[in-house]
Order: sequence, then C-alpha cells, then structure tokens
Amino acid sequence: MYRNYYSPTDWGKIMAFSQDKETPFLVVLLDRVREKYEAFQAHFPTAKIYYAVKANPGMELLAVLRDAGSYFDIASTHELDRMLELNVTPDRLSYGNTIKKAKHIREAYEKGVRLFTSDCEADIRNLAKEAPGSRVFFRLLMDAVTSDSDWPLSRKFGCQPRMAIDLVTLAAHLGLEPYGISFHVGSQQREISAWDAAIAQAHSLFEWLEKDRIQLQAMNMGGGFPADYLVKSNPLSIYAEEINFYVKAYFGNSAPAIYLEPGRGLVGDAGVLVSEVVLISKKSKTDLKRWVYTDVGIFNGLMETIDESIKYPIYTEKTGEEGDVVLAGPTCDSLDIIYEHFQYQLPLSLESGDRLYWLSTGAYTTSYSSIEFNGFPPLQTYFL
Ligand SMILES: *Cc1c(COP(=O)(O)O)cnc(C)c1O
Repeated sequence: MYRNYYSPTDWGKIMAFSQDKETPFLVVLLDRVREKYEAFQAHFPTAKIYYAVKANPGMELLAVLRDAGSYFDIASTHELDRMLELNVTPDRLSYGNTIKKAKHIREAYEKGVRLFTSDCEADIRNLAKEAPGSRVFFRLLMDAVTSDSDWPLSRKFGCQPRMAIDLVTLAAHLGLEPYGISFHVGSQQREISAWDAAIAQAHSLFEWLEKDRIQLQAMNMGGGFPADYLVKSNPLSIYAEEINFYVKAYFGNSAPAIYLEPGRGLVGDAGVLVSEVVLISKKSKTDLKRWVYTDVGIFNGLMETIDESIKYPIYTEKTGEEGDVVLAGPTCDSLDIIYEHFQYQLPLSLESGDRLYWLSTGAYTTSYSSIEFNGFPPLQTYFL
C-alpha cells in the first residue's frame, strides 16, 4: 500500500540507496523539492516564495532552493547564518518570527536583513531601535480558522485587526516602513476557505489604513499548504486556483504584492523516513493488538505525531493479512507512543528487523529531532 505516493523510479532510487544503511534515517529527493518549488511558482506566478527554513534546514536542500531562485523565511539568527553561509544575500531573507530578542534583531540588521514580521508593541519598539527604517509585516491572529488545520499555529501568533492598525501607526511614527499584512492559516490546512476568511480580513485592514493615508504594499499569506499524508487533501493546483480567486475577488485590480511562505507543502512529500522494527509484543496472551516498537519515535523525528496530529502513510514490504497495531518509539518515555487511537494496521507477518517506510516525512522531522534523548543521536538525513 501507498507505493503510489512515489513514482517507480523514485521508489527504486530510495530502496537502492537505503539497503545497507543503519536505520533510522531520512532520505530526501532533491528533484521533488525542485519540482514542487517550480509548481508553486507556476501556480502563483506573481508571488515571491519564501521557503520556511524551519521545515527542513538541510544545507543541500537549501542550496537547491537557492539555485531555483527561492527567497527564505528565517526564524532565528542561527538560520540567518546558515543562509549567509550558502551565499544567499540578505535581500532574499525575511525574519518572520514575531518572537525575537532585541540583540538578535540588531544582529540580523547588521548582517543586512531589512524585512521583519511583528505582532506586538514591544517588538515594534525593538525593531524601531535595532533595525531602523526596516520593512515590517503585521501578523494577524487567525485563531478562528486554524482549528481546521492538522497542526494549528493558533493563538500564539498575531494580533487582532484593531491592534494591528495601532501597530502600523506606531511603526510609521517610529520611522519603520509599514510594508504589509501577514497571516498563517495553520499548518496542513485542509480547509481552503480558511484563506478566504484571512484574505477578507487582510483586505479590510488595507482599506481601513488607506483612510489613514497609509498604503501597504504586500500581503504575506504564509504557509499551510499540504503534504500528502494519510488523510487526503486537495492538490496544490486547487489551492492556487481558490486562493488566487479570493485575492482577485477582494482586491480586484489593485492586488498587493503577494508573499508565500511554504514549508511543509514544499518539502514534505520529498522525504521518506526509513526505520526498523525493534520488537513486537503483546500485553497479554489474548491481546488482539500488537505493540510495534520502531527505532524512530516522537523524539527522533516523529514529533508531529503528538496527539496523532499528522498521520503518515507507512509502507512495509511484508504483505498478507493485517491486524491492529499500536506504534511506539524506542525511548524510555511513555510520551513516545506514535499511534494508538487511530487504527493503524500492519501485516500479521511483520517481524523484528523488518523495515517501515514513513512516507511524506520531508518536513518537520529532522528539524524536530532531539539531540540526545536516551542517547539516541539526531535523525540522519541523506539527500539524493
Ligand atoms: C512555520 C511557518 C511557515 C511554514 O508553514 P507550513 O505550514 O509548514 O507551510 C510559514 N511562515 C511562518 C511565519 C511560519 O512560522
């Protein structure tokens, strides 16, 4: 099952490469990343695409996107240094994290970054002081729509529209350049109408501000584009068609510059995590469910399976009759249970030592992997 997530050629490549490698590890197909970037650019022809580096900060992957012409959304000065090391000029970077220290703002500014995102007064004041004259996106709170996404970014980010107005005014007064409105509708957002509501809200802010003679230039529609997991979502083409329709419907011919910040949607499908079954056990002689312990778990790559939020398709070469399983990771922590309530089934013939292939794991796996919990090393990545 699920082999159709990859072409026979791609699958052949992954299998051939994986054979003699010690698990667990992630394989990322760089051609798929490049193709996905090109698809984003084709479907949103006027948009500037800022890859959200946090989704997968592998150097080889970043270099592919650099060469394809991508821009980058960074969350810290560490990611900034990584991009500079790759010779990406700072005019291709946006510091999109609203939560940052004043000294990191200063450092980013000194290294040439001139585009920031903010959602509160204290940060605006820091920006005015440490990054004078910079362009600022004002991030809107999206708690009404993020509940439809599988990994909501929720209440933590953004502010109410009324407050955004005050921040824009304050920023202009302090010598910053109010540049645009940004939002993120929640990651793996399967409900495309979430963008409708968000764009409508951004549009009314543009109008309110015009009354105050402040003309914003851009709208940053964030990420939220889906990867191919077990629960199906629409293809990127449908997202683009709908979202482009909303932009046109609200803004008509005076659409602002469009910024996108895909992370998951750009790199998720490109990765396959290869793991091995460590043990299979039952809790009693009559237990109908098998516990399948693998060498990958919550702490070394599968963080997004917390609360069973993201459901990866799992492939095994074993075939035949299937039965219910609980999947769990290798660490001495009971949080390290991957799937228990959602009924995953695996062949009854599955044994210790068999491999499990976790599909569409290119995003938020290595970057969430702990350094040394229980002594297990961070998840290794190979780029093909
Ligand atoms: C994480 C993040 C993204 C990427 O979101 P995806 O849902 O992975 O596409 C984009 N923008 C910002 C500001 C983020 O924090």
